[in-house]
Amino acid sequence: MPSAHEVRAMRRAIAISAQGLGSTSPNPPVGCVVLDVRGRTVGEGYHLRKGEPHAEVNALAAAGRSAEGGTAVVTLEPCNHYGRTPPCREALLAARVARVLIAVMDPTSRGAGGAAVLRQAGVEVEQDVLADEALVVLGPWLSATKTGRPHVTWVYQAALDGSPVGEGEAVRNEVAALRGAYDLVVTAGGAFDEGRPGSHGRDVFAVLRGDAVPGSPEALFAAGARSVLVAGHSPGAAALLAACLPDEVIVHVPGTAESWAPSPEAGPVGVLPDGYRVTSVAPAGNGVRVTGTRG
Ligand SMILES: [Zn+2]
Repeated sequence: MPSAHEVRAMRRAIAISAQGLGSTSPNPPVGCVVLDVRGRTVGEGYHLRKGEPHAEVNALAAAGRSAEGGTAVVTLEPCNHYGRTPPCREALLAARVARVLIAVMDPTSRGAGGAAVLRQAGVEVEQDVLADEALVVLGPWLSATKTGRPHVTWVYQAALDGSPVGEGEAVRNEVAALRGAYDLVVTAGGAFDEGRPGSHGRDVFAVLRGDAVPGSPEALFAAGARSVLVAGHSPGAAALLAACLPDEVIVHVPGTAESWAPSPEAGPVGVLPDGYRVTSVAPAGNGVRVTGTRG
C-alpha cells in the first residue's frame, strides 16, 4: 500500500503532467516525482514533447544521487523500448531506485512492459495507484491510443431546441481558455491550428503545414493528434464531426424565464445530443454551460 506521502506525490505527479497537454502528442503527458530513501521529494519532472526526455528521466536528473534507494512515483508505466530516447526502466535501474509506483499501465508497451522488467530486476513495483485520478490527464491519450482516432471535444452554442447555432462570444471565450490543452483546434472557418502554436515536436503535424489537410480522424491520428477541440458549428467542423462522434461536448444553452411555456408546435426543447449524458452544469453568462460525454 502506498503511504500518505506517496499518495500526495502521485497527485503532484498528476498535476505537473498536465503541463505536457497540448505538446507531448503523439507521446503521452506523464509526470514523475522522486522521493529519497526517507520519503522526501528530491526531484520531479514531466514530458514536454516528442524527442525530449521522458518524465522519469527529467525527475531522476533533478534528484541526482538522492534517488538511490528511493521511490519513483510516475503517472504511466515506465517505457521499455528504445525510441528517440533510451527506455525509462533503464534510467530507473541506473539510478538504483528501490520502489516504483505507477498509476496507469501503458497499453503500448512492446513485449514485456516496463513494470515487469523492473520487477525482474528486484525493484518493488506497485501499480494502479490513483489510476482514476491520473486518467483525468491521461484519459484522452489513452482512449485515442486504443481507438486509433483523436479524442474529440466539441464546443458550441445551442439554440433553445438544443441544436448548434453559429459561434458566439461564449464559445470563443471557451475555446481561448481550453485550446492550450489540445493538440489541434478546428476553427469555425474549418482550419486546423495547433492548440498552442509551435508547441509540438518538429516533425509532428508537418502534414498540416502542407496544402492537403487530413480529412479523416485516422489521418489526424497518423499525423500525431491525440486530442482535437472543435469550435462552434461550421462546415469544417461538420465534416470532422460526421466522421468522428465527439467524445465530449461543451454546450452553452440559452437561459429561459423562471416560468416559461414553450410552444408545443416549435418541437422539443433539448440540451445535449442524444446518446450523451450530463457530467457538469453551471450558470454561464445569461445561460447555462453543460458538459456531457458519450454513453
Ligand atoms: Zn519513457
